[in-house]
Amino acid sequence: MLEIKNLHVSANDQPILRGIDLSLPEGEVHAIMGPNGSGKSTLSGVLAGREGYSVDSGSITYDGEDLLAMPVEERAHRGLFLAFQYPVEIPGVTNLHMLRLSLNAVREARGEEPVSAVEFLKLAKRHAADLKMKEEFLYRAVNEGFSGGEKKRNEMLQLLLLQPRLCILDETDSGLDIDALQTIAAGLNACRAPNRSMLVVTHYQRLLGLLVPDRVHVLANGRLIRSGDADLAHELEAKGYGWLGIDDPAPVDPVEAAG
Ligand code: ADP
Ligand code: MG
Repeated sequence: MLEIKNLHVSANDQPILRGIDLSLPEGEVHAIMGPNGSGKSTLSGVLAGREGYSVDSGSITYDGEDLLAMPVEERAHRGLFLAFQYPVEIPGVTNLHMLRLSLNAVREARGEEPVSAVEFLKLAKRHAADLKMKEEFLYRAVNEGFSGGEKKRNEMLQLLLLQPRLCILDETDSGLDIDALQTIAAGLNACRAPNRSMLVVTHYQRLLGLLVPDRVHVLANGRLIRSGDADLAHELEAKGYGWLGIDDPAPVDPVEAAG
């Protein structure tokens, strides 16, 4: 489904990714782990088409087509979804409105009828209940004043509604308490499907114990230096990154660090 070949990316003339090769087959869940600053968010951002990065060489194909040539909206229309490490707040726009616009934009691109406001409200309420989110969050401005954990649940709500084919989750587990982590892992597990793939960026085995990945890749200094099965995540949890020959700054959870 996703093929990344020899990808080199820089930002502000600083090389960040230095030759990434990654193949994510349809139906699989792959985890990306690695120390802070190794390039995980850069990789997620480039896949989602976030601005500010320069792709210096290499290629990314999605369903056999050149992903880098697709505008951001087209990537979304074709089922690519990125849950941000730091979800944005959109004051003045209600969550419900934004979610319905997103869903109907994707449906329109697929040649499907839009979902009516009434139908959508039912759907959104059901998914919010699955995520143990209070209904009031549907009526609040997008992410405004949401706690770290609430923002992450809201990203999951968007994912459940949009039913993307390629889900990229950038530290969706950071800053979550145990209950929220279990809820989100259950949501992601329920989303696993033969035609859906996930790329899960995380520092923690605690998520990968609940959402067991098919492959685990270690990103360090802009390169994938090790790949393995789910046991690699256990090994990293136990031994850190030092044994792989890279510095091992203790993972800092930015949401928790920020309180
Ligand atoms: P990770 O998500 O693995 O912690 P990032 O992808 O956020 O890492 O960042 C990788 C490195 O690239 C970091 O050293 C970061 O400071 C640098 N970087 C990211 N974005 C930019 C930018 N716009 N300009 C310059 N350097 C950047
Ligand atoms: Mg990051």
